[in-house]
Amino acid sequence: MTKRVIIATKNRGKAKEFQHMFAPYGYEVQTLLDLPHIEDVEETGETFEENAILKAETVAEILGELVIADDSGLAIDALEGRPGVYSARYAGEEKSDEANMEKVLGELESVEESDRTARFHCVLAIAGPNRETRTVTGKCEGTILQEKRGTNGFGYDPIFYVPTLGKSMAELSQEEKSQISHRGNALKKLKNIISDFI
Ligand code: IMP
Repeated sequence: MTKRVIIATKNRGKAKEFQHMFAPYGYEVQTLLDLPHIEDVEETGETFEENAILKAETVAEILGELVIADDSGLAIDALEGRPGVYSARYAGEEKSDEANMEKVLGELESVEESDRTARFHCVLAIAGPNRETRTVTGKCEGTILQEKRGTNGFGYDPIFYVPTLGKSMAELSQEEKSQISHRGNALKKLKNIISDFI
């Protein structure tokens, strides 16, 4: 029987990445896109950690089983860490990746190459009935490009340059991105603690 793992997200980009990352372990990933009766959890926290815990615990309570949640975003140094926890809705509640990238590129228009440093953050929370919730973090360092490059991935990937690979995040295959991304790095840590959690 295929084991299932539930990820508390309605974000298609994240869902695809988690499906890819769990496939080698024989896990079928289900997200809130597969469970439409469960509403997306409102992110009222002020940190990635608060929001990840909130999402994991809320959905774990509804379903009565183990749930993983991801809260992530982009922190740009020249913008004092923005868009940060507001990454998904930086340009408005419609959560448009295109509008978010245009806003960032506009704000960085006069910022020089050397000051365009940024990083993606990811906090994964795992929660379940009668278990203490645990969290792990991952990050990925890079810079913000002057214009979009590449068509893979989601969110801010086309404007995020990964210096160690000489490519934008959206020019990486799913495999390459998982090896270096904030989410991939957090997942490596989650694998270390998941056995004592279960
Ligand atoms: P959340 O659902 O509140 O965690 O929103 C995360 C938002 O951060 C996404 O909607 C994207 O805008 C951005 N983000 C997080 N992870 C990535 C990634 O791997 N690539 C590009 N953008 C990301």
